[in-house]
Amino acid sequence: MATRIGIMGGTFDPIHYGHLVAAEEARADFQLHRVLFVPSGQPPHKTDRSITTSKHRYLMTVLATLTNPDFAVSRVDIDRPGPSYTIDTIELLRRQYGPDEEYFFISGADAIKELLTWKEPDRLLGLCEFIAATRPGFPVTQLRETVDELGDQYGARVHILTVPALAISSTDIRERVAAGRPIRYLVPETVLYYIEKNGLYRTVPANVETEA
Ligand code: ATP
Ligand code: MG
Repeated sequence: MATRIGIMGGTFDPIHYGHLVAAEEARADFQLHRVLFVPSGQPPHKTDRSITTSKHRYLMTVLATLTNPDFAVSRVDIDRPGPSYTIDTIELLRRQYGPDEEYFFISGADAIKELLTWKEPDRLLGLCEFIAATRPGFPVTQLRETVDELGDQYGARVHILTVPALAISSTDIRERVAAGRPIRYLVPETVLYYIEKNGLYRTVPANVETEA
């Protein structure tokens, strides 16, 4: 029987309970044997905000997933230069784990909406199935339309996964730390301590507007 592998890609800057709940629900509902968390690589050019070094993002992801025997972290994206295109990630993982296993890319409703703008969407859609997790702020009716369109027009295999709603985002966590507001219970305790110990997110990124 093929191994069913979930792939949870993200910037994880930092990882939070929204990511963990989506991955765990996907694991249970789709009988995944394991979920690989794949922190994205460092963008070579400065994008709209500077992203925390991959070393920190990787370690926080390891800390957050430590206690789940079915969760693992892959360095596949952070160990290669250049932007992390999902098609390249999936191909590298297929090479590593075998072409006959079944791959499920897990993402939130916001990310799935953008799927057709990703690199080589046609080929990507043929390589794996997609699990689109509901996310507060992204209406499920809209998600359903996107999923239907991807299926009808591109033959994509996309499944909607309803997860307990957690209105948590990494952006909000970074802003909270910068403003001295709490993040306890939004991230695992180990991640909280890691952020404190390394002084992460103390300054507000340049593109975030603050009240005077
Ligand atoms: P940022 O605010 O920096 O974009 P984020 O919270 O969206 O951070 P990402 O690392 O961008 O986190 O997300 C990785 C994946 O996890 C994406 O597919 C995203 O849609 C999904 N995701 C993030 N937060 C949630 C959440 N609260 N519920 C469901 N899915 C989520
Ligand atoms: Mg995001």
